[in-house]
Order: sequence, then structure tokens, then C-alpha cells
Amino acid sequence: AVEVTGAVKSFGAHTVLDGISLTVAPGKVTVIIGPSGSGKSTLLRAINHLEKLDQGYVSINGELIGVSRHGDRLRELPERAILAQRTRIGFVFQNFNLFPHLTAVENVAEAPIATGAATKAEALDQARALLASVGLADKENAYPRQLSGGQQQRVAIARAIAQRPGVILFDEPTSALDPELVGEVLSAIKDLASTGTTLVIVTHEIAFAREVADEVVFLDGGQIVEQGPPHQVLDQPRHIRTREFLGRVL
Ligand code: ATP
Ligand code: MG
Repeated sequence: AVEVTGAVKSFGAHTVLDGISLTVAPGKVTVIIGPSGSGKSTLLRAINHLEKLDQGYVSINGELIGVSRHGDRLRELPERAILAQRTRIGFVFQNFNLFPHLTAVENVAEAPIATGAATKAEALDQARALLASVGLADKENAYPRQLSGGQQQRVAIARAIAQRPGVILFDEPTSALDPELVGEVLSAIKDLASTGTTLVIVTHEIAFAREVADEVVFLDGGQIVEQGPPHQVLDQPRHIRTREFLGRVL
């Protein structure tokens, strides 16, 4: 399970995460929704310690992320230990960031080769299959600069899947995709969920959330306003702020 406990994060006087506690059950899909600026990306980044919390902590399967406990204090881990933890946490960013000097298939195969999880031939075969599953079979030898934003984002999704991490964090995974390709990504994500990968997905697409989520979390002003199964949060929201938000985006 991914556990966020009492997360507080401020930028100057602006409190962006205002006491967030959240448990994501293993193998479940948790979708985080909320207005722009509500802290969704900051929360995701805090989970793999790209953002350091002012208070609170994150643990995955009982292991603290980015810090270690010394009595009642938390101390930052050495950079090398943090990087090792991050190889077990997949991340698809809002603004996809691929290696510019590697082709699509090389980008997807890079992590399994680097970690020794697969031979080069196996990793490249798997990478081609993953690219095909996101609609990019004909782009395997293209470099990122030769791909549209949407195509680059799909390469980034295939790359995260190829790592076979225990947890994958997605920051608006479908926002750059053509509508006819959203379904392919959705089924790839569903396949992942059935393999026991824990998924945390930030999205503005409510229909997508309804289809993939086991749990929906509505974030506003750096706080969890409401959470529960999609039919409850999306169709019968209890809080006025959730209703107002859904009224704007639906
Ligand atoms: P969106 O839906 O637009 O992606 P979000 O919910 O992901 O929004 P965040 O990116 O988490 O929002 O940002 C939350 C707030 O924190 C915003 O007001 C943003 O300007 C601020 N913020 C985020 N990162 C920083 C930073 N490094 N320095 C200062 N302020 C920041
Ligand atoms: Mg964001």
C-alpha cells in the first residue's frame, strides 16, 4: 500500500498540501481529481520524494520514501538511496520527459536494460509490444523531437509500464492523447491493475475516472474534501465543493 500520512507542503506563504492522509490499497486504482492548483501534482511528486514535505511522510509497503526515522525525527536519505527507491515507483509526468537522444523503443527499453531486469533483446521485444499497445507501432524508431506531444506522452506511458514497478503514478496521462487512443491506454492501465500494480492517477477526465477508479479522491485547496468509490464521489457527491467542481468539468 501507498500511505501518505499528515502531508504538509508550503511554497513561501502558500500552503499547497494542507494535512493530507491517504491510503492506496495494493493493486487498486486511485484517481485524484480537483481544480487547477489544488495540489494534485505536488501530492504525486511528494509520493516519490520529488517534493520534500514540510511535515508528514510517505511510505510504500511499510518502507519510508526519501527519509529514514531517527527516534522521533525524519532524516533525508542519501541521494543514491532515493534514486534506488524511485526505480520501484513509475512516474508519467504531466509534461512527458523522454531521453532526447534515444528512439521511442530505446526509451521504453532503457530501464529494464539498465536494471538488468531483461536482456537487451527481451527488453526491445517487450518495448515494441508496449509501443504497439499505445498505438505507436510505426514510431518505434522515431526520436522524441520527431513525435507530437501526444505521441511522446504515449511513449512515456509505455516506458513506465516497462519498468514493472510496484506503483505507477500518472499525472494527467490522457490529457495529451487523441480521443480515439484514450481507450487503448485505458485497457493498458486496466491490464496493469489486474497484475497487481498499484496505480495513482491524476486526471481531469471524469469519464476516465469513472471507468478505471476503485477509489476517487477529490482534492481542493490542498485538502481531501471527499473520497470513495466513483459512483459515490462522481454521481452522488456529498460536498458542495465536489458538486461545484463536477458541475464545471462535466
Ligand atoms: P493542475 O491541475 O493545473 O495541474 P495541480 O492541482 O496539479 O494543478 P500543483 O501543480 O500541485 O497543482 O500546484 C499547486 C500550487 O502550488 C499551485 O498554486 C502552484 O502554483 C504551486 N506550486 C507548485 N510547485 C511550486 C513551486 N516549485 N514553487 C512555488 N509554487 C509552486
Ligand atoms: Mg498538475
